[in-house]
Amino acid sequence: MGSNNQIAELLLHWYRVNKRNLPWRETKDPYKIWVSEIILQQTRVNQGLDYYIRFIKKFPNIQSLAQAHEDELMKLWQGLGYYSRARNMHFAAKQVLLEFNGQFPSTYNHILKLKGIGKYTAAAIASIAFNEVVPVVDGNVYRVLSRLNQISTPIDDAKSYNEFFTVSSKMIDPQSPGDYNQAVMELGALICHPTSPECPECPVKNYCKAFKKGNTGDFPVKNKKTAIRTRYFNYLVIRSTNNTLLLYKRNGNDVWNSLYEFPMFESLNAEIHTNELITRFKEIIPSLKLKTTELKKPVTQVQKLSHQIIHARFYEIKYNAPIAIPDKFIWTNADNLNDFAVHKLIDNYLKLVVN
Ligand code: SF4
Repeated sequence: MGSNNQIAELLLHWYRVNKRNLPWRETKDPYKIWVSEIILQQTRVNQGLDYYIRFIKKFPNIQSLAQAHEDELMKLWQGLGYYSRARNMHFAAKQVLLEFNGQFPSTYNHILKLKGIGKYTAAAIASIAFNEVVPVVDGNVYRVLSRLNQISTPIDDAKSYNEFFTVSSKMIDPQSPGDYNQAVMELGALICHPTSPECPECPVKNYCKAFKKGNTGDFPVKNKKTAIRTRYFNYLVIRSTNNTLLLYKRNGNDVWNSLYEFPMFESLNAEIHTNELITRFKEIIPSLKLKTTELKKPVTQVQKLSHQIIHARFYEIKYNAPIAIPDKFIWTNADNLNDFAVHKLIDNYLKLVVN
């Protein structure tokens, strides 16, 4: 038996004894595996588990997801972040109904045709639900395999995916491709941590070149540091006398598409002059009669996303007379705000101020 087979066998044995018991590991339903894989992208298992349970309860199958109203779906997703995942799932569920006759596609190449499903997710579903022998490559796999084999190709290099895919293709167990894939990822999650891997506990330490050389901290290799963009969002919270607030649904190719928030504009600098605030708010709602004295010191919030830091300023004003509002805005009573999917900045502001 070659060392690749021995590594795979050790990994599989370790996985079967040590894996965490999670609901998506007790099913072969490709829909449920898909839901879990999408939720767990960029999300820790502890946080994702509750979302998964609620998601499957509300949308137990692909038909129910395809028929969902977008707002209902976004509300369920609220707080998970990376909202395009939910929008893409909604689209893909409709695709399954229209293009695959309501049956979840059963091969890697067909699964890849669904919106929002990349190579990783397609390989995970195909191997776990359909036993297709195709390896997954994700952050855990990069880390484990780069350390095991001392692969120094930077993982953010375009050619790294194919290299790691090939390495894992030689190791994957053709009898149990789904368990093999999950075993590598589980080892990365539980033992082969990004910092301070627990090598003495590792089932494949005798084959690990980085462990033998004592340089596990040098792997995986990465080229670039991700540039972080700083942004400034200025919100106008208009509250009428009968406690209604003005909201609109974000759209376009930016963060938080399809979530609700207060009227806002983005400015370039950390500081902003009151006159500019008034001018810009009036551009958004032309009928607004706003005086400098009405704009009190704003409530501020900061939200860190993976590639951006958003500084938000919330200016709340009281409005007594009815105002004409552009079509995209809606008034809603503060008591009904829970019906709307809002992003974290708005949610934090509401918790702080409105209730
Ligand atoms: Fe990771 Fe250590 Fe195991 Fe190597 S021996 S795969 S570095 S946990």
